[in-house]
Amino acid sequence: MQKGHIGVTTENIFPVIKKFLYSDNEIFLRELVSNAIDATSKLRTLSSFGDFKGELGDMKVEVKVDKEAGTLTVSDHGIGMTADDIDKYINQIAFSGAEEFVNKYKDTATSIIGHFGLGFYSAFMVSSKVEIRSLSYKEGAEAVHWTCDGSPEFTMEPCDKATRGTDIILHIDDENKEYLEQARIDTLLKKYCRFLPVPVVSGKEQEWKDGKYVDTDRDKVINSTEPAWTKKPSELTDDDYRNFYRELYPGQEDPLFWIHLNVDYPFNLTGILYFPKIKSNLDIRKDRIQLYCNQVFVTDSVEGVVPEFMMLLQGVIDSPDIPLNVSRSYLQSDSAVKKISGYITKKVASRLEDLYKNNRQDFESKWDDIKIFIEYGMLTDEKFCDSALKFTLLKDTEGKYFTLEEYRTLVESAQTDKDGNVVYIYATDPVGQYSYIRAANDKGYNVLLMDGQLDGHFISLLESKIEKTRFVRVDSDSASNLVPKEDKKASDLTPDQISLLTTLFKSRLPKVDKAEFLVSFESLDPAADPVLITQNEYMRRMKDMAATQPGMSFYAELPDNYNLIVNTSQPVVVKVLEEAENTLGNKLEPLRNTVNSDNEKLAAVRAEIKDNKPTPDQEAEEKKLMKSVENARKEQEKLISEYAGGKPVVKQAIDLALLANGLLRGRELSEFIHRSVSLL
Ligand code: ADP
Repeated sequence: MQKGHIGVTTENIFPVIKKFLYSDNEIFLRELVSNAIDATSKLRTLSSFGDFKGELGDMKVEVKVDKEAGTLTVSDHGIGMTADDIDKYINQIAFSGAEEFVNKYKDTATSIIGHFGLGFYSAFMVSSKVEIRSLSYKEGAEAVHWTCDGSPEFTMEPCDKATRGTDIILHIDDENKEYLEQARIDTLLKKYCRFLPVPVVSGKEQEWKDGKYVDTDRDKVINSTEPAWTKKPSELTDDDYRNFYRELYPGQEDPLFWIHLNVDYPFNLTGILYFPKIKSNLDIRKDRIQLYCNQVFVTDSVEGVVPEFMMLLQGVIDSPDIPLNVSRSYLQSDSAVKKISGYITKKVASRLEDLYKNNRQDFESKWDDIKIFIEYGMLTDEKFCDSALKFTLLKDTEGKYFTLEEYRTLVESAQTDKDGNVVYIYATDPVGQYSYIRAANDKGYNVLLMDGQLDGHFISLLESKIEKTRFVRVDSDSASNLVPKEDKKASDLTPDQISLLTTLFKSRLPKVDKAEFLVSFESLDPAADPVLITQNEYMRRMKDMAATQPGMSFYAELPDNYNLIVNTSQPVVVKVLEEAENTLGNKLEPLRNTVNSDNEKLAAVRAEIKDNKPTPDQEAEEKKLMKSVENARKEQEKLISEYAGGKPVVKQAIDLALLANGLLRGRELSEFIHRSVSLL
């Protein structure tokens, strides 16, 4: 028997491994099964080159739990190891600087494993003793038995193993008894080994018999050895892709489409990315992209490897070139990873472009579902954005789709404003904004539907990407002012008329929680509504942004500002004004005169005072005049308000506008209904 000292420079490396890697210790199984698969693949390769002439036989890898003996054994029928091999590959591991490395990367267990070829030694994370029994494929080789109890001391002696290959026998320690449960092992194998290229068996198939599940004598195979992504796209049908998706994510709705990735230069990468139906970019996906390294599952946290927006996709990426066993921060700065990420972005963009080019109709039918993904991509990835501008679609309120170019051509002539900007009019709520949409359509304008979760940000993006473009919401102004063609006409009312109407409408303004109304007058289409409520585009956007961004709560707290536009050409309004002037004219006349003449006097007194200190007389005179003007105004307001109180039509016109905006609620709504009934 040979006794020896494992070639580690640090005596206490095993306690270090145990301590730091403890939290993630389940990966030992992945490491051991991977080694078994490697050994199997190597023998196949040797055989195919004629360097191994014997029978390959059954090449499956077996993982066996023996609860009584307290062992977990991983067996393969691969190349096996001679005593020399064990000496070279197991005993002489290069450990220089290991402790320093462990300290540096202690947060990520996987970072240490692999980096130092520690795969096999991870067995010590869960074992009090590890044995190797191996028979090399080499002619005349002698079987060898190696044991180590976790100290750097090992023993090695010949043994009687008769079959080619290697058994790794773990004597599971007291803290890790869970690994003696078949169910736990099944879970781990399903997680890490389900797509390994060699059959892996563990436990027995079960069947339902006499009211319970019992073991059959058939071995339970864990994996499918030829997952779809390892095949050529030409070998796969759409159903194959769908079936593979179902295998990956059982119980989910079928994906919309997929992209088969296949590169061998400048790096190796294969995989299939699926576009699921995305409901919301905020729902954190449980079923995410899985990262594999030569069909061994590594992780499903792919941050850093794929661009952020692709986290909304699903599927598999397999690359031996991604440095999988290093920490995440390292991963993100790795240039190979950056290239891979860039490649995936390009590939996804070009696949989307193909879809759009080859079958526009199909692309349109999927648009609503992939829109959030594309917008998210465009907002977060400059390169993707530039490619996506070619196939991004805009949808209008009638359900028609346009490319950006098509849309520009469509609206350019009718919707260019006086400054040469093309105005894109949009609605966010086709039901709530129905009357505005109709009014805009009547003017010959097209209205886009922008009701997506990211559309607010997307609009700003498009404004910055498409020159001379401005987006306005359909209810941000009266239809005739949405696309200002010339400077606004001054109202054709006299100042007295304006003041009369202002007071008339102001006195009947509703009290809506957290909302303020500003009355203004415009001479609109006589056929349009008498009163229109709009909301300034800029202010509304600020408030929308404030609602989702921290540190802007000041804006969020502001009341909503609405413009109450009175259409002075509308017959009802014309009549209201006429009647008011007829009824109130005589009473208002002297008051108006008082205001006018006292204001003149006031101006004269103030001119006299100018920059000097006023005399007591001047001061008294000024006060008196101001008071008189104020009183006359108040008197006017009182008269008008009293009059307005008996004119339900004003209130009715305002309420109709509120109703069109969904702002009429509760008591006001109920009063409106009563008033309407009584007007019938
Ligand atoms: P790595 O697999 O990263 O090289 P390991 O510590 O897991 O590091 O294994 C070291 C070496 O031991 C392997 O490269 C291989 O040569 C040998 N080895 C490990 N397991 C087996 C096995 N089941 N059959 C044959 N050789 C093995």
